[in-house]
Amino acid sequence: MTSPSVTVPFVDLSLQHRPIETAINQAIQTVIQRGDFVLGEAVKSFETAFSQACGVNYGVGVASGTDAITLGLKACGIGHGDEVLVPANTFIATVIGVIHSGATPILVDCDPQTALIDLNRAAKAITPKTKAIVPVHLYGQMVSPRELLDFAQAYDILIFEDAAQAHLAERDGYRAGSVGKAAAFSFYPSKNLGAFGNGGMVVTSDEEIAQTVRTLRNYGAPSKYYHTEAGTNSRLDTIQAAILGVKLPHLQQWNQQRNQAAKTYDHLLESLGEKGIIPLENQSDLGHVYHLYVIQILETFPLTREAVQDYLKERGIQSGIHYPIPCHLQPAYKSLGYNLGDFPNAEKLCQTILSFPMYPGLNQQQIEEVVEQLALIK
Ligand SMILES: *Cc1c(COP(=O)(O)O)cnc(C)c1O
Repeated sequence: MTSPSVTVPFVDLSLQHRPIETAINQAIQTVIQRGDFVLGEAVKSFETAFSQACGVNYGVGVASGTDAITLGLKACGIGHGDEVLVPANTFIATVIGVIHSGATPILVDCDPQTALIDLNRAAKAITPKTKAIVPVHLYGQMVSPRELLDFAQAYDILIFEDAAQAHLAERDGYRAGSVGKAAAFSFYPSKNLGAFGNGGMVVTSDEEIAQTVRTLRNYGAPSKYYHTEAGTNSRLDTIQAAILGVKLPHLQQWNQQRNQAAKTYDHLLESLGEKGIIPLENQSDLGHVYHLYVIQILETFPLTREAVQDYLKERGIQSGIHYPIPCHLQPAYKSLGYNLGDFPNAEKLCQTILSFPMYPGLNQQQIEEVVEQLALIK
């Protein structure tokens, strides 16, 4: 079969960029004219705007979401000899960020319905060395802030949120990034708020932590050629910050479009529940910002997941798997000492999940097309 044209792409960023193209070009030109390419004006103004949007006092722009985790944890005083709880089923950057801080990631299984870290299991992984938990607001849904705060208080550990997939997500009256001591965001192009390249930010309401990240990202120097921290070079580029500043005012509306699209999927997919296609559970209604729309394909379904992906692809519909291998089974992290069977819920989800097309501007007909094609599978 010749490959058909794509009718429902997995993601289409051009839809969000076209209407603001002129404003973005202008913002880039302004940076070029000013010439402040590193830690320029636009970085400062975007740090202020984004931290305010998160409901916290400070934002510090860094080179990536991965670096935001590393530098944020370091600034919180987490490092060598400390244990940090992280979900086993996250994008690997969560684990990388923790390891680069010097701490040891302790993996935890997830809830099978939401795919979010299971705090009951996290409680069983607590040791005297446990200093922090990095909850991942996976796929755009926050881990319950109320439960997180109770958990952190009970075990006297700090919360550092990985909010890379959850810009402006809400739950229990909290916004992503405002629950813990500090939080990390990524502005990788396909995130809910994406740059035209890499970028990240640490947000916090703690002035000292913010100041330490500012120092760490800039060679460890609070002032020129005076180095108080063993720092690095990890700044959010001024041009990226300028682009993000133009995009930020549209973010809430884009998130609403994602949430609407998810509601349409949920509704139409109800008819396929008996056949074995089950969306992950949304426990936060409009607060879920659907970075990804993820379903499970149960064994009762007539085709395997891989066959469903091929079937959809042949009909012009793209899909993805986020993520096919849990962190504890990645060859690079064998030395953490985990084995197959250690995190059964995470392992099972990696086998059964499939992500359907999801982006602002995905329209009703496209969603209907996805579900109609699935309904035809016998
Ligand atoms: C994207 C992502 C990161 C890393 O962000 P980068 O900007 O790509 O370094 C970290 N954690 C999660 C959950 C992510 O999805």
